Amino acid sequence: MSMILQNQWLCRPISKFIFSNLVPTTYAALVFPPKHVMTCSLFVVHATNAPFPPHGVDEFVENAFDEPKVKILKQKMEVHGISLDNSCLPGKYYNLFCPKCKGGELKERSLSFHIVPDGEFAMWRCFRAKCGWCGRVFADDKDLYSRTEERLGLEPLGPKLIAYFKERLISEETLSRNSVRQMSDSKTVIAFTYKQNGLLVGCKYRTTGKRFWQGKGTEKMLYGIDDISDAAEIVIVEGEIDKLSLEEAGIRNCVSVPGGAPGKVSSKDLPPIEKDTAYQYLWNCKEYLDKAVRITLATDNDPPGQALAKELARRLGQERCWQVHWPKKDEFSSFKDANEVLKYMGADALKRIVENAEPFTIGK
Ligand SMILES: [Zn+2]
Repeated sequence: MSMILQNQWLCRPISKFIFSNLVPTTYAALVFPPKHVMTCSLFVVHATNAPFPPHGVDEFVENAFDEPKVKILKQKMEVHGISLDNSCLPGKYYNLFCPKCKGGELKERSLSFHIVPDGEFAMWRCFRAKCGWCGRVFADDKDLYSRTEERLGLEPLGPKLIAYFKERLISEETLSRNSVRQMSDSKTVIAFTYKQNGLLVGCKYRTTGKRFWQGKGTEKMLYGIDDISDAAEIVIVEGEIDKLSLEEAGIRNCVSVPGGAPGKVSSKDLPPIEKDTAYQYLWNCKEYLDKAVRITLATDNDPPGQALAKELARRLGQERCWQVHWPKKDEFSSFKDANEVLKYMGADALKRIVENAEPFTIGK
């Protein structure tokens, strides 16, 4: 059944409608001569029995193949979860597995992918109606390509900020593994680099006076996402420094929310995903979070932190959520967050406290 469906698709000429709203009109004529459709997995390319192109098209592709551009496109596709090998050439169409819907129950190769012949951009669309994921990336634009550390004006941490972190018991080793940087023209501004598949996708800045802002065009996602890519058990904290603190306690399978905590728990029903703007970062990381069977919420011990834990649990499913309860500091107060516990109780205690999280209950 799945074969039949797949072949029906492959034999159907991939026509303009699939990409119609993605292609600048000037490219439309160039991009849609008859093409042969190929499927391409990580390592294998299978030509299909779709009609072959007229002679000359392949030569054109060869001549137009501009390797540096294609390399950039491939790098950018990695960020979107699409791995291309060298068999994916400009000017051809490929049917790939869609990283968003995985081809549904029939495991179809539902993602139609194309690099235009001159290698200027790549585009894709999942033709499963339920998914419909589509997009394009350019080889020479200002987004990811320009978002290298140097162009963002970042440099390695200097002595002042290293001392700032040392006071919080965050080591240079941890800072370096997480590519924590500073702004080169404002050396007291910390830059937390957001990476996905090792590539820079955004940046959040923080002054030592606790002022925060985000780099332009930053992807809405969790901080440290690569550390949970294969994790069945994960920890979610409320700030980048808490993630670094957990690393000091030997816990790496941890991510931080990018934007702190809400004022209070919403009394309304959950909005549909596309309208759930404050939690877009969760939905953008859904494929990572879906793999987790145990999610430990280690947010701050204050009303916003507790509200955040509840909002996260509502979206992630309370049944797989556990909650850390920070211990008492003295008769009157409790520790506020992971970094405070690290500072006052040490790494071993922090590890133990996180591991002793209790099943999440909305009432608490
Ligand atoms: Zn899809």
